[in-house]
Amino acid sequence: MENSRRRFLKNAGFSILGVGAGSMLIGLSAHTSKAVSPDAGQRPQFSMGDKAMEAERWGMVVDTRKLNDSICRKMQEACHSIHNVPEPVGESAQRDQIIKWIWPTEFQHAFPSQEVEFLAEDAAHRPVVVLCNHCDNPPCVRACPTRATFKRERDGIVMMDFHRCIGCRFCMAACPFGARSFNFRDPRPDIEDENPDFPTRMRGVVEKCNFCAERLAVGKKPACVEASDGALTFGDLNDPDSDVRKLLAEKYAIRRKPNLGTFPSVFYIV
Ligand code: SF4
Ligand code: SF4
Ligand code: SF4
Repeated sequence: MENSRRRFLKNAGFSILGVGAGSMLIGLSAHTSKAVSPDAGQRPQFSMGDKAMEAERWGMVVDTRKLNDSICRKMQEACHSIHNVPEPVGESAQRDQIIKWIWPTEFQHAFPSQEVEFLAEDAAHRPVVVLCNHCDNPPCVRACPTRATFKRERDGIVMMDFHRCIGCRFCMAACPFGARSFNFRDPRPDIEDENPDFPTRMRGVVEKCNFCAERLAVGKKPACVEASDGALTFGDLNDPDSDVRKLLAEKYAIRRKPNLGTFPSVFYIV
């Protein structure tokens, strides 16, 4: 796989930085198209069992009023342990090499835009968890030359096919939320207690939150939702009777960087 990746890059003659920046511009300027990979419906990803949870468009509502440092840590531990996300140790503890699927950040980093300029003090100092937004109009999907990242047609989840990823990182340049991580080294030695039911990754592969597609396939809610003590709600954004839609109808919620037109499927009650 290493050789074929190298061959692809050499033949394509790409400059990672140059084309990555170009991809970002292409991605963000094509706002009107809803990017779904042509073969996304056929791609095998976690076969659906009898109890599978299904939706037209999965989404999440984060109630920031219920978050604190301990809940954020619990959610991250729940996600990272079942998805074999390596713990940052030694060399990989360098800030830009940490792998993360969900993590706490400060309010102003999650929402740097004008809309929260005069936000109440207590809200501005709350921890906020961030993850892949499973954007309805995802620039990362358009940037990917191999379709290793694709939007699943049946439920809108933006997935990764680790075997197709050549590590070009165009998707990382295209994602305006920093939701993707790159494995600069083999992550396996840094996995404390490997979950044999979820694939591990290798050096040179990008990864991110998958909205727990493997759990939905067997009728389980995302691990972070279960660990959130009610701070996270998950459901079908296209179903007016779903819990997420009911919450959104009752409470004012914002999305990250709405001006970019990616239409995130993760909402935040502030
Ligand atoms: S948050 Fe980033 S990685 Fe996730 S779907 Fe949106 S653009 Fe892609
Ligand atoms: S790093 Fe992998 S997923 Fe990202 S654009 Fe390149 S091939 Fe696609
Ligand atoms: S939805 Fe699943 S994969 Fe995504 S952050 Fe939560 S636990 Fe992790």
